[in-house]
Amino acid sequence: MRKENITMRAFRTYSAYNPKYFPLKFLHILFQSISPYFNLWMSAEIVTALYAGKDKQAIFLLVAITLFGNLFVRIVGALLGYITELQRQILANNEAAAFNRKTLSLDYDKLENPEIRQLRRKISQNSQVNSHGVKQLRFTVEKLMDCAVQISLSCILFTEMLGNMASVRFPLMGAVLLVLLFILVVLTVVMQLQSSKKNAANWNSLSEHMLGENRIGQGYKVSGMDCRIYRQQEIITPLEEKNSRDHLRIFTAVNRKSFLYETPVFVLTKFSEMCTYLLVCLYCTLGAFPVGSVIKYVGYLGRLIKNICSLFNQLGRAKHNEPFLKQYLDYFDIQNDMYQGSLAVEKRSDKKFDIEFKNVSFKYAGADTYALKNINLSLKVGERLAVVGMNGSGKTTFIKLLCRLYDPTEGEILMNDFNIRKYDYRQYLDIFSVVFQDYSLLGLPLGNNVASAERWDAEKAERCLAEVGFGERYREMPQKLDTPLYKNFDADGVNLSGGEAQKVALARALYKDAPFIILDEPTAALDPIAEAEIYAKFNDIVGDKTAIYISHRLSSCRFCDKIAVFDHGSIVQVGTHDELVADVNGKYHELWTAQAQYYTEKK
Ligand code: ADP
Repeated sequence: MRKENITMRAFRTYSAYNPKYFPLKFLHILFQSISPYFNLWMSAEIVTALYAGKDKQAIFLLVAITLFGNLFVRIVGALLGYITELQRQILANNEAAAFNRKTLSLDYDKLENPEIRQLRRKISQNSQVNSHGVKQLRFTVEKLMDCAVQISLSCILFTEMLGNMASVRFPLMGAVLLVLLFILVVLTVVMQLQSSKKNAANWNSLSEHMLGENRIGQGYKVSGMDCRIYRQQEIITPLEEKNSRDHLRIFTAVNRKSFLYETPVFVLTKFSEMCTYLLVCLYCTLGAFPVGSVIKYVGYLGRLIKNICSLFNQLGRAKHNEPFLKQYLDYFDIQNDMYQGSLAVEKRSDKKFDIEFKNVSFKYAGADTYALKNINLSLKVGERLAVVGMNGSGKTTFIKLLCRLYDPTEGEILMNDFNIRKYDYRQYLDIFSVVFQDYSLLGLPLGNNVASAERWDAEKAERCLAEVGFGERYREMPQKLDTPLYKNFDADGVNLSGGEAQKVALARALYKDAPFIILDEPTAALDPIAEAEIYAKFNDIVGDKTAIYISHRLSSCRFCDKIAVFDHGSIVQVGTHDELVADVNGKYHELWTAQAQYYTEKK
């Protein structure tokens, strides 16, 4: 099977985001292009009429046709421009939405894959900074449509001119000029092709450089507060100045090259125009057409040559845009390959979902070492499991595997004796309520956030908020559950503190009312009183759910039935607090002793 051209495929995908746009744009271009041709035509008629000494009435009629014709073309053109602009917005919105949808629908391991993240970054930066990719494709298609319309209109009149020229005797000079004109046009097109090829590579080199600049710019991650306290401006300003100098140097070099590439085309075009003038004037003197037509034919021929060059220029640009379109299509071609499962997850009122990790190991994409190695652990319904260990020991990864955000590299995870891969993926995810360390709330009303849905059960949402200690703050909110969070979309939105946001995230986990509740450092941003409040209520909050609790604060794990101690990706101890603390050679004892003084003082 023949492989479809990248530009064609990208155009098919892109135009489908709003199929109305390109046909409407074509109509708009048609109306815009008619105007100058119409004016040239009418000017020629008026000059010829004046030259022929026609009466005033006839001349006024021609002038009136010119004015009203122009008015009509302009009004329809403006109307079409307005409609087209609206459709262009829809096209851009739909394209952005499709890109977001693709990103959100990726398997989590693909979403987080470093190469795919890099591809996503390149696509958006190339588009935003340099208008490459589908944006450039739109410009090119519009320009090509414009060239096609103008070339067609010019050709019609060119044929008319040739017809007139054939009516008189054929002078040798005419033949020479026609051949010269033909050679000049072919030469211009060849030069144009070469120039646009070199120029595209030239400007692409600037784009590459700008991507680098942008990467540095984003990488600073300047915080207004840190900047003031640590005078970071003193490091950043010289870097920015250097960036700016580098940019100017590269821009000047690119611009100079661009000028050199374009000049020969410009000179050749001017020569072609000169030939056109000579040719048209020669035939006018021979009586092939009236004086007025000189303006018309010179104008049309000039436009014909200009548009032929522009057409080849755009084709060259389209070729150079191909790698950017390929990146775009490659992103959409990424296939989800996570097995979706088909086994229904029973809706059990007894919430009896027993979990077992059997020899589970896991390595992140691109990593050399295992983040988890040979994990064996079982979890019975209603149990409270605490997961402790140093930073980077694999606690969060363990949770991500349990929630099937990633599949194990080796080993298997069973739920009620079936591999979790066998369960319908969506239904499986439904049995977990998780508050991740890097949770995020949406810039939408509080009710949407707690219910994680368009509509909410107000009573249930308020109960959940009260249970996690958000009740007092909630009562202060005049708009209650309709209060927008953050000011992204609403100036009346409330900015939550870290602790308040964490409570809302906890309330969201409770509202979901899933059989498993998993809290990854859920009290990290809470003040000691709020933290104590959550611990005191923890049993009530969790109820008959199976709970997994990750924490650095070992004292907060004492109420759990079972504690798993992670170290360098392995589980090194499992037991109750009393059992583990008694093992003086164990990791738990080491961690506990390190924190003991702090907890004694805190008590
Ligand atoms: P913990 O939750 O105990 O702090 P994690 O489970 O987050 O530890 O991390 C375990 C190991 O896996 C660490 O070495 C960490 O650097 C690595 N890791 C975590 N996330 C990723 C990722 N997305 N890609 C590559 N390595 C990762």
